[in-house]
Amino acid sequence: MDLKAELLAELDRLETLARHPDVQYTLPWRQGNVRGPGYDCELIYTHPDESGFIQADPEGVAAHIASHDPSATLRRIAGIRAVVELHETTGDRDHLCGQCRDVLGDCETWPCPTILALHEGFCGGYR
Ligand SMILES: [Zn+2]
Repeated sequence: MDLKAELLAELDRLETLARHPDVQYTLPWRQGNVRGPGYDCELIYTHPDESGFIQADPEGVAAHIASHDPSATLRRIAGIRAVVELHETTGDRDHLCGQCRDVLGDCETWPCPTILALHEGFCGGYR
């Protein structure tokens, strides 16, 4: 599998996870705290009416989880996918990126630095 295909497959996998049927993936999650006698924890509300939530422990984990909610994940994946789609080999030279140029203005070799960096970030293990 080539690096771009592997990267797109990983984006597909993350998108599928974010669209899990048990979460409302179109709305942002919200962090909340629950404190009272015998309990003190952070919650991440996954539904606007607070009917769904995740309990997070230790403190600070809730903010991390909430910042990676399905709606944010889908938004980020759409942005990354748009960047990935800009990078293709040129029609007649399949060893060059049609988008990226080096400091001299020549086409970067394929896979280009952008695809390599995104692949490393999402898939790891190439370099
Ligand atoms: Zn490129």
